[in-house]
Amino acid sequence: MLVLLSYFMKASHLILGTQRENPADAEIISHQFMIRAGLIRQVSSGIYNWLPLGKKVLQKVENIIRKGMNDAGAQEILMPMVQPASLWEESGRIDKYGQELLVFFDRHENKFCLGPTHEEIITDLCKNLITSYKQLPLNLYQIQTKFRDEIRPRFGVMRSREFIMKDAYSFDIDKEGMDKSYSIMKEAYIQIFDAIGLNYRIVKADSGAIGGSDSEEFHVLADAGEDLLAFSDKSDYAINAELLAEHKESKNPASLEGMPSPDGKGLLKLKRGIEVGHIFKLGSKYSEVLNLKIQGEDKDIYPEMGCYGIGASRIVAASIEQNYDDKGIIWPKSLAPFEVAIVEVNQKSKEEIKRKCSEIYQLLKDNKIDVLWDDRDKRPGVKFADMEVIGIPFTIIIGERTIETGEIELKERQDEKPKLVSHQDLVSIIKG
Ligand code: ATP
Ligand code: MG
Repeated sequence: MLVLLSYFMKASHLILGTQRENPADAEIISHQFMIRAGLIRQVSSGIYNWLPLGKKVLQKVENIIRKGMNDAGAQEILMPMVQPASLWEESGRIDKYGQELLVFFDRHENKFCLGPTHEEIITDLCKNLITSYKQLPLNLYQIQTKFRDEIRPRFGVMRSREFIMKDAYSFDIDKEGMDKSYSIMKEAYIQIFDAIGLNYRIVKADSGAIGGSDSEEFHVLADAGEDLLAFSDKSDYAINAELLAEHKESKNPASLEGMPSPDGKGLLKLKRGIEVGHIFKLGSKYSEVLNLKIQGEDKDIYPEMGCYGIGASRIVAASIEQNYDDKGIIWPKSLAPFEVAIVEVNQKSKEEIKRKCSEIYQLLKDNKIDVLWDDRDKRPGVKFADMEVIGIPFTIIIGERTIETGEIELKERQDEKPKLVSHQDLVSIIKG
C-alpha cells in the first residue's frame, strides 16, 4: 500500500529567530529588519549566518539571477573561494588590490588569498579549456561566496566582508564580439532586476572615458544608498556622481544638484543609489597578462573579455530599503520567504480549528502556494507582529469565527484590517 506522507511547514518547528528590539549597531532600515525578522545573525564584523527565512529569500534572488544568466546563454560553474596568491602576483594585482585581499599561508608555507573576485582564476581555467576561436563566444558564471576585508563593514549584508556574488566572465575573439556579449549581459541584467521587482537605474561608471559605455552600474534607488547618482532632467544621461566629480574642480559629488548635464540636455539632479550590479568591458588585459592565447582564424589571439557582477546578498537588503513600513518588511511576491501565513488563533487548542488550518494549508499547497502555518502556542498579537515584521504578503486568520461562519479572514500585508473571503475565492485572490 502506498502511504503518502504530507509535511507541514509549521512555525512551531521552524527556526524563526524574530526579535522585538532593534540591534544597537543597525543604522539603516534593512539591517534592522533583517535582524528583527530573523533573516540573519551576525557572527563577526561583516560576517553573517543566514537563518532559514533569510536563506529562502537569498535563494529566490539567486534563482532569478540563475534563470536570467542561463536564458542569456551563460554556463554555470563553481570556482574555489581559496585562490593561490601566485596568480595574483602574475596578474600584478596582489599589491594593487590592497588590504581588502585577505592573504594567508597553508601548512607548506604556500601563499593563498580569499577570492574577492575571480578574473585570475577564470582566465587560468580557460587556459586549459579554450584552445580555438571556434569555442567562442563563451560566458561562464558562478554564484559564490566572496571575501573582501572591507575597511568599514556596515549596514549588515549591504557592505559585509563575506558576501554572495554572481560573477560572470565573457570571452570573445574581437572587440566587436565583446561589445555584443556586453549588450547581452546588460539586457539579462534588466530582465533580472525587473523580475526581482527593484526600482533601479543604470548609470555610467567608467572613470577612464566619461560619456563612454565601457562600464555601467545598476543602482537601486534608496536614501540609504552609499553612492550619489547624477541624472539629467531632460535626457537619459545618468552617471555615478563620483566619477563626474573627479573631472570637476571641487571634486565633491554633492556640488553637482543643478549643474548643466554633460550631454548638453537639461540640468543634473542627484539621487542616492545602492550598487547591485556592475558590468565591465575588460578587453585583453587579463588574457594577455596571464597568457591566455588561443588559435585565431589566421594567427594566435588573446580573447577579449568582459566581467559582470551582481551582489546577490546585497540585493536582499536593497529590496527591503524599497519595501517596508513601520511594522516591518513588505516583500514583493518574487522574494517573499512564504507567500501566505496561516495564523491559527486557537487558545483552547480546538481540534476543529486545527483541522480547518490543515485543510486550508493543503488547499494552498495543492495550488503550489508556499505557505507557513503559525501553530505556535503564542498570543495572536505576537503571531501577527511576527508575520508583519517578516513581511509575508498574505495572512489567513483561522479561529472560532471561521468555524462558526465558514468565512475566512484574509489580510494583505499592507492592509490595516482583514477582509472576509469565501473558501472558493481564496486561491484566486492570493494568486491574483
Ligand atoms: P562597492 O563600490 O559597493 O564597494 P564594488 O564596485 O567594489 O562595490 P564590484 O567589484 O563591482 O563591487 O562587485 C560586484 C557587486 O558585488 C557589486 O555591484 C555589489 O553589488 C556587490 N558587492 C561588492 N562589495 C560588496 C560588499 N562588501 N558587500 C556586499 N556586496 C558587495
Ligand atoms: Mg562596482
